[in-house]
Parts: sequence; structure tokens; C-alpha cells
Amino acid sequence: MERIAVFPGSFDPITIGHFDIIERAVPLFDKIIVAIGQNAEKKYMFPMEQRKKWLEASLHKFKNVEVDVYEGLTVDYCKRKSARFILRGLRNPADFEFEKAIAHTNRTITNREIETVFLLTSSGKSYISSSIVRDVMRNNGDYTLLVPPEVRIQQ
Ligand code: ADP
Repeated sequence: MERIAVFPGSFDPITIGHFDIIERAVPLFDKIIVAIGQNAEKKYMFPMEQRKKWLEASLHKFKNVEVDVYEGLTVDYCKRKSARFILRGLRNPADFEFEKAIAHTNRTITNREIETVFLLTSSGKSYISSSIVRDVMRNNGDYTLLVPPEVRIQQ
């Protein structure tokens, strides 16, 4: 059976923290689907099309990585894609506590069919988050070292 992983997130925008997790997961799976979760309740800085374009441009060198968009429960999306794994990154204890609850829930509601696989952030990248990058962007700071080179905004 193919080992397919879904890496779900908002990617508003993709950062070098996300990129690092994806790059390191590439050898572990047959295919990784980087999936932008669309949540009607959530306000995003960048439209979905823009976030998707940046992901595609940043990840196109990885032949086993796809970019997609989904709504609804991540586990339902995984089933539609025949993915048995959810990939998540861990930066700090707060991430751990939050992710632990979601991972247990997802395993329970799928009757133990879906496992969440965690990769620890590379040292030196644990402080990077999309929300901090958005703050730097909004205030015209230099965000270029925090995101892949394909991510650029018009001033
Ligand atoms: P979400 O809204 O689901 O948290 P994000 O786009 O913020 O979506 O994050 C998606 C995933 O990437 C999460 O698993 C998050 O922990 C991980 N991630 C984000 N930034 C980093 C980083 N700097 N290092 C490692 N993992 C990260």
C-alpha cells in the first residue's frame, strides 16, 4: 500500500519552517499532499489562490509533493485521498499540547486508521510562524529570510 501523507495547514503564507518539514518528510512517504484547509470562520491575509500559487512555486522541485485545497474535517479529506498519515510540525510545548489532542481525536474517530506523524522543527526555525511573518509583511519589514524565495509581495 502506498504511504500517502497529508500535510494540512493554512499556509498564510508558507514559511521556511513549513518548507523544512516538507523537505524532511519527502524521503519518508511515497506521496505528500500539502493541503490548504479552507475554514469559513477564519480570516486569512492572503486569498486561497495566492497561498496555493506560492506553495506550488516553492515545492515544484519535489516530484512526490502535490498541493490541494479542502474543506471539512482533515480525516475525511485523508480518506478521500487514501492517505493513512497526517504530517504535522512541532515547534514547542504549546504545539505539542494542541497537536496531541487533535491527533488522539483523529485516531479515535477514524477507528485507528489514521496516524499523525510529527517532525520536530529544525533548530533555528522554531520561532518562525506564519502569523509573525504576516506581521513583518504588514509593517513593511524584511520578511525575505523567513519565507521561500518564491514568496514575494507587491509593495
Ligand atoms: P495551522 O493553521 O493548521 O496551524 P499552519 O500553516 O500555521 O496551519 O501550520 C501548519 C503546520 O506547520 C503545523 O503542523 C505547524 O506546527 C507546522 N509549522 C508551522 N511553522 C513551523 C515551523 N517553524 N517549524 C516546524 N513546523 C512548523
